[in-house]
Amino acid sequence: MLTIALSKGRILDDTLPLLEQAGIIPTENPEKSRKLIIPTTRDDVRLLIVRATDVPTYVEHGAADLGVAGKDVLLEHGSQELYEPLDLQIAKCKLMTAGVAGQAEPVGRLRVATKFVNVAKRYYAEQGRQVEIIKLYGSMELAPLVGLADKIIDVVDTGNTLRANGLEPQDFICEVSSRLVVNRASMKMKHGKIQALIQTLSQAVDARH
Ligand code: AMP
Repeated sequence: MLTIALSKGRILDDTLPLLEQAGIIPTENPEKSRKLIIPTTRDDVRLLIVRATDVPTYVEHGAADLGVAGKDVLLEHGSQELYEPLDLQIAKCKLMTAGVAGQAEPVGRLRVATKFVNVAKRYYAEQGRQVEIIKLYGSMELAPLVGLADKIIDVVDTGNTLRANGLEPQDFICEVSSRLVVNRASMKMKHGKIQALIQTLSQAVDARH
């Protein structure tokens, strides 16, 4: 049995057509079903529906053999324990800093609100900049507007959400896309099946571009 961890929303929408190329079609709609373990048209493959930020955890511990997670989530999770054999080139966006449009940088210590605490620490350490990092779980755009922080670090696609809140994208941190991740032990124990799946997905990704 191969178990694949996926999160609902953008990643599921874009991953299902790729999995279909490998004959993997969920037997019920994962977006609508309340089930968290979803069988597929392949007897030897099942899907686990988990929170996006939990995908690396399930795969790292071997509760799932494979998973699909955004590079933002993987960077923040920070584990060296996962294989990352394939860039699926879906759910693309950028990690960026953002602040109030036209507002000058504060002189003292910068306050940065984000859910990407580890990414933020690494980024500002590389810049040699002293910052106070404020952990948030959502609606990051609010923080600079109400004086909780000077800047935020968030994923940005069109930048419309930032602009709608009077913020502007500022410094580019990195490109983000979804990656296939594989548990190390599974890669050894189920090598044939996993290698075949990676190859089919890789061809499906190439065909899309
Ligand atoms: P934007 O197009 O920049 O207005 O993005 C809309 C919202 O969707 C933003 O608040 C982002 O946090 C989120 N977003 C955009 N692209 C992605 C992605 N690839 N993965 C996760 N969240 C995203």
